[in-house]
Amino acid sequence: MLIVMKPQATEEDVKRVCRKIEAMGFRPHPMPGAQRTAVGITGNPGPLEPAEFETLPGVAEAIRVSKPYKLVSREVKNEDSLIRVGGGANVLAFGGKELALIAGPCAVESREQAFAAAERVRKAGARLFRGGAFKPRTSPYSFQGLGEEGLKILAEVRDRFGLLIVTETIDPENCDLVERYADVLQVGARNMQNFSLLKRVGRSKKPVLLKRGLSATLEEFLMAAEYILSEGNYNVILCERGVRTFADHTRNTLDLSVIPAVKRLSHLPIIVDPSHGTGKRDKVIPLARAAIAVGADGLIVEVHPEPDRALSDGFQSLYPEQFEELVEQVGAIARVLDRTLNSAPQANARR
Ligand code: PEP
Ligand code: MN
Repeated sequence: MLIVMKPQATEEDVKRVCRKIEAMGFRPHPMPGAQRTAVGITGNPGPLEPAEFETLPGVAEAIRVSKPYKLVSREVKNEDSLIRVGGGANVLAFGGKELALIAGPCAVESREQAFAAAERVRKAGARLFRGGAFKPRTSPYSFQGLGEEGLKILAEVRDRFGLLIVTETIDPENCDLVERYADVLQVGARNMQNFSLLKRVGRSKKPVLLKRGLSATLEEFLMAAEYILSEGNYNVILCERGVRTFADHTRNTLDLSVIPAVKRLSHLPIIVDPSHGTGKRDKVIPLARAAIAVGADGLIVEVHPEPDRALSDGFQSLYPEQFEELVEQVGAIARVLDRTLNSAPQANARR
């Protein structure tokens, strides 16, 4: 259920509603909006009657939410969410007019490799750096990432290049470590329904990049996000990264139709990963262009200084000069849509 407050409702009116919700064994989620505050209700202790709230001071109406996902839905919050990432002077937002570009290697392999990638993607205009320190690989014999050493390298990348760090956390215990270093916690496709991890990142103060599962329906995808919001972390960025189909000309089938579908149902921003979405370097730029054209709020792209020597996902990693080309091309499409890239001018970099 959603409690819609009157525009003139006071802070005390909102608190009274929240206290009542808690007293009934549910969890209140106050959501201040431009016109008025609404309070979402989650939990499962029993049935709720709108009349129990409609008589409270400051309440305009109590509405039943028909969708199985509540907090992520537009029924509960109609305005697009702006998810702020970073801190201090280095803050940017996902979900507004500006498009966010996340770029970097699949995995952090060494300090030299990460620095070389960071320098090039920063120069090309990215403000966020990706790179896995913990890699959930299909084979236990494949490179699993550098672990904490990789996180330390990522922290150096942030300091030296002014890039915000997006990196994957693979289980609830591992999250304690990763959240000390990351600006954005990535939950990978294979973990989209790892419910204990979703609950754990839901209790984090850091924003979460939630990737769509390999065969997840739209409803399953939004329900996974709901797990995170229901724990109190409303800062979730969705990511389409391709799904399994019979098609074998690409690694996955990038489902760009999910972008407008998500936009219709949810207020959360959604970005696209054309690297895992295609698995093939030559298809990354065309699908990056298409992703922006269809309304994505940004991109996450694998870029490696020497893709042919990459320890993971080399075939789909762009050469740095290809990433520059990508930025130029998606920038042109963004302008048509009256959007801009959130790339900072070079002068802002610390070196
Ligand atoms: C990644 O971003 O490196 C990754 C492993 O992606 P996904 O979880 O989408 O496969
Ligand atoms: Mn990868």
